Amino acid sequence: MKFSERIKSGTRPFVVAGPCSAESEKQVIGVCDEIAKNNSAQLLRAGIWKPRTRPGSFEGLGEVALPWLVEAGKRTGLPTTTEVANKKHVELALKAGVDVLWLGARTTVNPFAVQEIADAVKGVDIPVMIKNPVNPDLQLWIGAFERFENVGITDLTAIHRGFSVYNHRKYRNVPSWEIPIALKENRPDLPIICDPSHITGKRSLLLEISQKAMDLNFEGLMIETHPSPDDAWSDAAQQVTAQGLDDILNALVLRSKEISTDILSVLQGMRGKISVLDDRLFDILGARMELTEEVGRFKRENNVTILQQEHWTRVIAARIERRDDYKLTKHFVRQLMDAIHQESIRHQTKIMNPNSIDLKK
Ligand code: PEP
Ligand code: MN
Repeated sequence: MKFSERIKSGTRPFVVAGPCSAESEKQVIGVCDEIAKNNSAQLLRAGIWKPRTRPGSFEGLGEVALPWLVEAGKRTGLPTTTEVANKKHVELALKAGVDVLWLGARTTVNPFAVQEIADAVKGVDIPVMIKNPVNPDLQLWIGAFERFENVGITDLTAIHRGFSVYNHRKYRNVPSWEIPIALKENRPDLPIICDPSHITGKRSLLLEISQKAMDLNFEGLMIETHPSPDDAWSDAAQQVTAQGLDDILNALVLRSKEISTDILSVLQGMRGKISVLDDRLFDILGARMELTEEVGRFKRENNVTILQQEHWTRVIAARIERRDDYKLTKHFVRQLMDAIHQESIRHQTKIMNPNSIDLKK
């Protein structure tokens, strides 16, 4: 059976664990032995080559560290995986006997690099896992799978590790769950593993994101695990000990994907009520836009601009202040009001400038 099919059909979660980077033989073997002793993972990871954002950070020990990972695999009986970013990495990893390769986010973003790696594994029977690109581009992620399929590598798995943003207050990489969900819609055949370590950047949030991934039916988790996380040479704040990993896995609540007919009929009743409310919500939005158009006609007749900034700032502030009455977050109220406002502006623009020019003519 293909590795990806095993992930898809096995017990959830399929866990990939091991250090961000291989630092010494003792470190790699020590933590992998502990992970295996607790029966916490099905695949061992260690970064050998580390693509770092800025030069001067630890870039991985390279080739010398490969035998440590392979040895950890032999001792525990578990398969191993490492990140490859070019043809040379592929050749060395294959020669050393690494069982699964993965492409990092900074590689998936570059079609030339992805193609180079795909060409390097052509004809080899090896599973490949592909992390999402750093930017939220679903097509680029799908394209990476296609490049491997085009050279005959079909044992593929996706890893969701979140997307880069500038200075986010909570996450290192925002999860934007809609993107892996869209990948599932486009490619239901591919298993998806969530990497909460790189999404959160901090160990205190690992459980929250792991639970969310399980609730969204992800097949697995990749969690960086280190014998002494605070001393790690890379990604110290997000790594956990083998015990910490075990605690996270034990705390996860795994809900069933299958729905019995009894449960389904109760659920359908509840969904029916929601759908009635949704109907009302959209009727109200439609009515609101009609009123907006009336405002637009009035503004046109009186020759005033569409955007009355102070008015809109006051409207939003008043709604945000009342967010607790609605049990909504500030972020949601803002996003909803912004979306409504943009749609209102579109309606008003149509009224006020009915004869906009067609540039295609
Ligand atoms: C990693 O897994 O250690 C890594 C570098 O991840 P990413 O490609 O998601 O940044
Ligand atoms: Mn890392």
